[in-house]
Amino acid sequence: MRFLVSNDDGIYADGIKALRRALEQIGDVIVVAPDRERSASGHGITIHRPLRTKLLKYKGSSSLGYAVDGTPADCVKLGLEALVEEPPDLVLSGINLGPNLGTDVLYSGTVSAAFEGIINHVPAIAISLNTWAEPNFAEAAQFITEYIPHVLKHRPPPGVMLNINIPHGIKPKGIRVTKLGNRRYIDVVDRRTDPRGRVYFWMAGEPENIDEHDPETDVNAIKEGYVSVTPVQIDVTNYQYIKKLKEWPINK
Ligand code: MN
Repeated sequence: MRFLVSNDDGIYADGIKALRRALEQIGDVIVVAPDRERSASGHGITIHRPLRTKLLKYKGSSSLGYAVDGTPADCVKLGLEALVEEPPDLVLSGINLGPNLGTDVLYSGTVSAAFEGIINHVPAIAISLNTWAEPNFAEAAQFITEYIPHVLKHRPPPGVMLNINIPHGIKPKGIRVTKLGNRRYIDVVDRRTDPRGRVYFWMAGEPENIDEHDPETDVNAIKEGYVSVTPVQIDVTNYQYIKKLKEWPINK
């Protein structure tokens, strides 16, 4: 099996290293990832300047790495179109430091890297670990190697990828197939003053999980100690509303 690995935490992040090492046990790995952290960069791509790559070799491993001065989506696009000789069997993005739940998927570079896989007709999964501090990626990496054969056997339909979130510091109670929760961030903008007296703003905030008690949501699954697997898709058309929208007189 051949795997293309990326993520938005940057190519030197511990999570990407843990995933590469685990995948090396079951196949060939090429890592194409940003040369620095690009978390929350969404699906941005770089079109107004060139992209540079730096080839990395890993001690005791035949895997190759490419550090790219671009976004996660750039990395997967570049990897699939220009760096791999044959298409991989699977694109994996992760293991991300921090969860990607609910509306996080819209901002997430981790999820966007996986989306770039399915845009290019390669099955893809995004993997995130539910912790911010002192992460231990080993168990999550092990879980993913066991989950991969099932992904390749059942193959999600074109345009659909799996967004996987893994609990941290506990043995997961099991796997739950979920929907995205309704998560938003509150108290996001911190207004501060710099040493020269000028006001600046820093985006931060705390997540507010509006439907965290709904057992169908990813947020609830993680809260309850389960691995959450959500199928997410490129097509964000609201089909239910098409008919009603056509009924607006101006649209007729
Ligand atoms: Mn990240």
